[in-house]
Amino acid sequence: MVRLGMGHHRVRGARVSDLEDVRPLLANADTVLLDFDGPVCSVFSGITDFDVASQLRQVLRDHGVAMPVAIERHNDPLEVLRFAAASERQVLVEVEERFVNAEVAAVKVAEPAPYAHDFIRAVWRAGKALAVVSNNSEPAIRAYLKIHGVDEYVGRVVGRAYADPARMKPHPHSVLRALSELDTVPHAAVLVGDSVTDVQVSVAVGVPCIGFANKPGKEQRLADAGAAAVATGADGMGLLVAALGTETA
Ligand SMILES: [Mg+2]
Repeated sequence: MVRLGMGHHRVRGARVSDLEDVRPLLANADTVLLDFDGPVCSVFSGITDFDVASQLRQVLRDHGVAMPVAIERHNDPLEVLRFAAASERQVLVEVEERFVNAEVAAVKVAEPAPYAHDFIRAVWRAGKALAVVSNNSEPAIRAYLKIHGVDEYVGRVVGRAYADPARMKPHPHSVLRALSELDTVPHAAVLVGDSVTDVQVSVAVGVPCIGFANKPGKEQRLADAGAAAVATGADGMGLLVAALGTETA
């Protein structure tokens, strides 16, 4: 739930952030770096992540690549892609291509995060630059933003490096590229993400991070990783919208 002006809470030991925590982080930033899967939408809510992972495994099988049990059973296609990096270049490229196609299909039926599109528009209204920085592919992110009519508010889209999974977050490549393309510096930005890897890359690069704990139990992990604040609950992006709406100049 969104908690406004209710003071500080603790959930299983983690302090839940409120408007007063989030507002200065956004007010001090001229640039918002926004993770995609989680804070914007649940990419694999219509087409499941396991289904996509299975499609990627089929590419590997077609090339006679043996997989460990952990990869055979993994739900996360990003982990299958990481595994594919040990294969020949052409195999990795085919896995990447299949993944991009599957993601583009998935975002067409992906469920938006509550208040995510409001947040994108609010960032634009506040006069800040916005880049989506994601381990998902740029074509899929662009397709989603266009379908939902918010593409015009997003200045940059930095998806995962093509057929180069080692440079996915928490590798700093995508965050550094977004900062460079927007001609800004780490301390003038803020990153919003729902994964520990988002917090890790933020800490490594020096960008303050607002965690989005969209599922129970995430707030502690994000706080422990070094998030400056954590918006909690499935509709936690609403807290960020509220914070932008009440920013003082
Ligand atoms: Mg995410």
